[in-house]
Amino acid sequence: MRILIMCDMEGVSGIVTWDQVGGGKAGYAEGRLLYTAEVNAAVRGAARAGATEIIVIDGHNAGGDWRYNSLLKDMLDPACEYVAHHSWTHYREPLEQGADACLLVGYHARNHTPDGVLNHTIAPYQCSNLWFNDELVGEIGVNAALCGHYGCPVLLMTGDVAACREATELLGDGLTTVAVKRGLSKFSARQIAPQRARKMIEEAAYQTLADLSAVAPYVPASPVTITVEFGNRDAALRYTPGENVELDKPAGKMYSRADDWLTAWDQIWPW
Ligand SMILES: [Zn+2]
Repeated sequence: MRILIMCDMEGVSGIVTWDQVGGGKAGYAEGRLLYTAEVNAAVRGAARAGATEIIVIDGHNAGGDWRYNSLLKDMLDPACEYVAHHSWTHYREPLEQGADACLLVGYHARNHTPDGVLNHTIAPYQCSNLWFNDELVGEIGVNAALCGHYGCPVLLMTGDVAACREATELLGDGLTTVAVKRGLSKFSARQIAPQRARKMIEEAAYQTLADLSAVAPYVPASPVTITVEFGNRDAALRYTPGENVELDKPAGKMYSRADDWLTAWDQIWPW
């Protein structure tokens, strides 16, 4: 059983500020520790469930040389292999080989979610809103669509209450979720103590892998239009659209069209 664990920092218990997720910031050391420990919990659960190959992919952009490179390597559970410092959504080898399931750990709600701790979609200047066809999505949707393109379901989502709600709305009630905190604002939360949150994540990862068909792979209907509303005007004005991408400068939006989601995504990302 080959399992992917795609992870992000903002949805981890104990993390509520940008300082904790930004490379080189004072809070970053604490954030990395909390992050790595939650990822380990999912690794333990997957290993207990019988996973023979567990690949952790760091999906958090902490800036600079910390881009997708925030895990504390020496702390990582020996049962996993991990991918660091590789551009988000571009490491696809296990999906091409056939992955049985993906677990999303530490995710956050899409931009403008009032109770979403550290809510955003990609980066504030790049993206205000993102749609796959008519569906408003965030980074959870991007990861799910990437996996779905290869027939791989997302079975577990951990993060705050808002991220879990967003993921369930997108992927259905078969999704297992673990809410480790409830946002009181963008920068505060009532939280489950990290050590208990990790136990919950481990148990959920273990349980959810008993039924690999609980969630259907997420595949936006063909033909696919990905719509990006730029985060600011300058970003839209600077952008040069490629083939099959339409730029609407007055609206500050671009539309990428293709028969399948991955082609549409690769036409624009990174922008
Ligand atoms: Zn992140």
